[in-house]
Amino acid sequence: MEADSQRSADTHLHRFPLLGTLGAATEDAAAAGGVELYLKDESVHPTGSLKHRLARSLFLYALCNGWLHAGSTVVEASSGSTAVSEAYFARLIGLPFVAVMTSSTSREKVELIEWYGGRCHFVDSPGEVYDAARSLAADVGGHYMDQFTYAERATDWRGNNNIAESIYDQMSRETHPVPSWIVVSAGTGGTSATIGRYLRYKRLPTRLLVADPEGSAFYQGWLEDSCEPTASGSRIEGIGRPRVEPSFVGGVVDDMVQVPDAASIAAMRWVTERLGRRVGPSTGTNVWAALGVITGMRRRGQSGSVVTLLCDTGERYLSSYYDDAWLAERGIDLAGHLTALKDYEATGVLAPV
Ligand SMILES: *Cc1c(COP(=O)(O)O)cnc(C)c1O
Repeated sequence: MEADSQRSADTHLHRFPLLGTLGAATEDAAAAGGVELYLKDESVHPTGSLKHRLARSLFLYALCNGWLHAGSTVVEASSGSTAVSEAYFARLIGLPFVAVMTSSTSREKVELIEWYGGRCHFVDSPGEVYDAARSLAADVGGHYMDQFTYAERATDWRGNNNIAESIYDQMSRETHPVPSWIVVSAGTGGTSATIGRYLRYKRLPTRLLVADPEGSAFYQGWLEDSCEPTASGSRIEGIGRPRVEPSFVGGVVDDMVQVPDAASIAAMRWVTERLGRRVGPSTGTNVWAALGVITGMRRRGQSGSVVTLLCDTGERYLSSYYDDAWLAERGIDLAGHLTALKDYEATGVLAPV
């Protein structure tokens, strides 16, 4: 595993053109009231998403804890991306892998898991994955990786080239090297825990905003400072959960917003157009929330930088979020939010829809 990571490079930090055309980002920033937006591109990991970092951490944690042995079957409950990355690492160290997912998981992800030699086990609703994964692991004498419990502790949040340290290092030569805000969304909550703890550990003035999609329990849980709330489950793959996951560390989050699914998907398509690369729907959630933050900064006459994450590539969602018929079947209408984004381009202000 060390040799595997030695063969990889760090992920890019893109400067995102806020107004005007690509390549004129400095002028754009001036026009946008001195606010710059950056996207940390986690889609360029070997397995295509930010879950590559998590899967590596979870395997190292399990190995060092003595939880994995020759022949152990690794089982995981996942909405897909973690399973893709874990299938990669299981194959790397020669262990069988089973992913427990809802049957609604995108076909592209299922094919990727199988391509890495993993097997998929389907359940009907997102709330069923935990027990199904636990009992499947017990049946085969394997190990349930349990990303939703261990994400926050498997990652070395103090440094060791975690995502936060990498962002600050890559920002160091920018006009505003210390971001005013970092905007992320939560699936396990591991990324927000790592970044939030790092901010406090390094005594950085950056604030952390978590954007939560419709149908997720995190937002209500954070407002009430409680682990009790449950919800129906999110339609945005990778983020939003039916329960407040143990890895979600609410105390390091400075603010949260709820993002409608139509806003996430409209922003996903908008980013794809503006950046010239296809992004996934949680990136849309992040950018929609980041534009809200930027609008607020502009209104207050503040300059500075905002960093958010490009979580995974859109190639995994061609037959879902990029397919108009798929959206229509689910009654998701993007028109209002696409108009709001067009208006944002002209005015630099993201108006409520
Ligand atoms: C997991 C995931 C997230 C959220 O990251 P966490 O660290 O699990 O909270 C965002 N986007 C995608 C595509 C993901 O797979």
